[in-house]
Amino acid sequence: MMNCPSLISRVILSGLFVLVLAGSAHALPRIQLLATGGTIAGAQADTKQSGYKAGSFSIEYLINAVPQLKTIAELSGEQIVNIGSQDMSDAVWLKLAGRVNQLLGQPDVDGVVITHGTDTMEETAYFLNLVVKSDKPVVMVGSMRPATAISADGPMNLYNGVAVAAHPDARGRGVLVVLNDEIHYAREVQKQNSTQLDTFKSLNRGRAGVVNTGAPVFFSKPVPRHTASSEFSVEGVAALPRVEIFYAHANMGGEFIDSAVKSGVKGIVLAGVGDGNATTPALEALSKAAKAGVAVVRSTRTGSGVVARNVEVNDDRMGFVASMELNPQKARVLLMLGLMKTGDPKQLQGFFVEY
Ligand code: ASP
Repeated sequence: MMNCPSLISRVILSGLFVLVLAGSAHALPRIQLLATGGTIAGAQADTKQSGYKAGSFSIEYLINAVPQLKTIAELSGEQIVNIGSQDMSDAVWLKLAGRVNQLLGQPDVDGVVITHGTDTMEETAYFLNLVVKSDKPVVMVGSMRPATAISADGPMNLYNGVAVAAHPDARGRGVLVVLNDEIHYAREVQKQNSTQLDTFKSLNRGRAGVVNTGAPVFFSKPVPRHTASSEFSVEGVAALPRVEIFYAHANMGGEFIDSAVKSGVKGIVLAGVGDGNATTPALEALSKAAKAGVAVVRSTRTGSGVVARNVEVNDDRMGFVASMELNPQKARVLLMLGLMKTGDPKQLQGFFVEY
């Protein structure tokens, strides 16, 4: 016959077992979806190329379109804005960064997935990569085909994005972009094709990894300084310094650069030809701007490569900063954040080496 203490301990143990089981039923990672619009939420009346509208569907619609999401994460969703990402602005970035930081600071949130248009996704991703203060995963997803298209790519991209955000290997890697079964680091990724599904490439350092029906494999580590180890913060910031990009071309003049300086820009990024170069009049106007206190960063319009100091252009003499591996649109992001700390070209150059 069973003695009393052992009966009691069995009852306690089986009670604990039931509790553990109940706990594990709730053990799915808790992922918060933040929706901003884009083609992933876009609708097209017919299958012709023209006339689709980005940002037509709500976050609930996107979640309901992929019922399998419920098997990989406990999801909640929130609409931040519903716009085409060509209209992305500093104000939305600041709102988004504030909300992501707030959510990731909560113990009941394990990661964030942001749906976003693909046009400026790399800029938003890099901005968040510099100002989010957490090691928890932040994943951006979009699509190249509208939600109503034949073989829309959004549902699988969303599924893969949530799966990556829910995966322990995604921690500490900074902001990730997931599209077309690939994972990219925010700093490396660029939109490279206007319409094709495989538009996102990480030309300098290669993609971060791949994801096959929700199973991610990472190939490489990111550049060390980002998110939790970044020195940049937009907490309490109401506006970002104005930085414009000038696209270099044959026969480029300096007069539009002069008028940008007159209009009060704080920084200029040159999308230079080749190794960050431009015509003599354009370089002279840029040097004049730098000497007047406007920060000037030289990048390249080529889409890849490293623009290093003093190779074809004498940065020391002209007062310029070299963008290193950053393309013009990402150099603009880093320059805006850098300018909130310093206007000194030497210190700004340090940021472009580290980030
Ligand atoms: N114009 C759209 C956007 O960026 C394109 C896309 O999402 O693919 O919002």
